[in-house]
Amino acid sequence: MKTTVYTITSPQADDAYLLHAGEVLREGGLVVFPTETVYGLGGNATDAEAAKKIYAAKGRPSDNPLIIHIAEPQDARAYAVTSPLYDRLAAAFMPGPLTLILPKRESIPYSVTGGLDSVAVRCPAHPIAHALIAAAGVPIAAPSANLSGKPSPTCAAHVIDDLTGRVDIIIDGGSCDIGVESTILKIDGDRPILLRPGGITVEQLEAVCGPIEIADAVIGQLAPGERPLSPGMMYRHYAPTTPLTLVRGEREAVTAYLAARQAEGCAVLCYTEEAEYLSPQHCIVLGHRDDPHEQAQHLFDALRNADAFGAPHLYAHLPKETGMHLALCNRMLRAAAHSVIDI
Ligand code: AMP
Ligand code: MG
Repeated sequence: MKTTVYTITSPQADDAYLLHAGEVLREGGLVVFPTETVYGLGGNATDAEAAKKIYAAKGRPSDNPLIIHIAEPQDARAYAVTSPLYDRLAAAFMPGPLTLILPKRESIPYSVTGGLDSVAVRCPAHPIAHALIAAAGVPIAAPSANLSGKPSPTCAAHVIDDLTGRVDIIIDGGSCDIGVESTILKIDGDRPILLRPGGITVEQLEAVCGPIEIADAVIGQLAPGERPLSPGMMYRHYAPTTPLTLVRGEREAVTAYLAARQAEGCAVLCYTEEAEYLSPQHCIVLGHRDDPHEQAQHLFDALRNADAFGAPHLYAHLPKETGMHLALCNRMLRAAAHSVIDI
């Protein structure tokens, strides 16, 4: 398949590239587009065949459901059974990096939901994503636009590496602001359950909807054969080829540990504050220690680049579990396949 790359800097409603990409989506094609979280690999969410093409292009197991992207929060009513809780959360956080899981309506085929009776709905804040959904005139089913198992793409170069020849169009809209995927909250039962931490924190959600449950698989490791609430939690994810181990302990001790591993030829991910204590060789700086937003913007790029060192092993700090740190902690634990050492 020939893949065309369109570079868009400021989307206008009559942008010819966006109108063409919208048409391609309506006709069952695949379009990669930027969002404020990561790039998405989009297809028409009401078209069962388009969903199958998404799974094939990504190499994703077809029991791992897709998120549907809508232009306006109220559009969810056509595809899902909404509730007063949906309206409250939508008013607070949409458009934005929040995905809500609701009972699905017939308009969404089971191939989009991995056979589940629920559907994941998100209204992205990125102007290109918004304009593309509006141009398509249909909801867009879109997982992250990486090959299955690789870190999610946060700039067009990542997508071009992974998906050239597998999709019709890639829209290059620059780097993604947030850098980790949306927060996923299941609200189709009695009590909201956090399935994936992301750009909207637990603390922000609880301020709007009261206490929420945090699914065990957010931080914990699944027992062999255990089926999680979100099928995506089963799969190894975000992983560099170089084995990654996370280090937990006092700041100075962890820095000294990273320096010692570097001296042995291993690579490290570190914070800005400790870069001066480490060798610039085999070292990627994620951002300031207390700025999880900055770290999130760099994490997936760092995980992709870490393999280029050709080091035998990669080491990084285990992040905290509060606020936006929880999203980093979740992604890094999965990239490390839960390999953590205490020092
Ligand atoms: P990605 O598309 O790569 O951002 O991943 C989407 C995540 O949402 C995956 O982990 C899915 O398992 C999860 N997901 C999507 N739809 C549902 C649903 N109906 N119920 C539970 N999890 C879902
Ligand atoms: Mg993904």
